[in-house]
Amino acid sequence: MVDRTDIDRERVRSQLMKRRGELLERESATKEARDPVELDQARLGRLSRMDALQSQALAQDVERRRKIELQRIDAALGRIEAGEYGYCLNCGEAIPIARLEFDPAVATCVDCAR
Ligand SMILES: [Zn+2]
Repeated sequence: MVDRTDIDRERVRSQLMKRRGELLERESATKEARDPVELDQARLGRLSRMDALQSQALAQDVERRRKIELQRIDAALGRIEAGEYGYCLNCGEAIPIARLEFDPAVATCVDCAR
């Protein structure tokens, strides 16, 4: 695999690290919302209990997405280290620079992403 001369790896790395930092900071923000819902019927009416369960589910969904994005970013940083960044993980073709600029953590070409 040839190093891509059209990619500024240092710039991509700092973009990914910045995004990674933002995602890590966000963990504590969603932590409380994800905590188990108090199901004490005496304290919570049925409707507010449903509200609580709903917002807990939402917070869990946000957290799930956050983890997936962190994994994608870590994988992309790993590919930069390995000198494999910018090549489709599936077919090995060079990923167009516009696609990488849109999403620096993207791992596959458009054809393989379908
Ligand atoms: Zn591909």
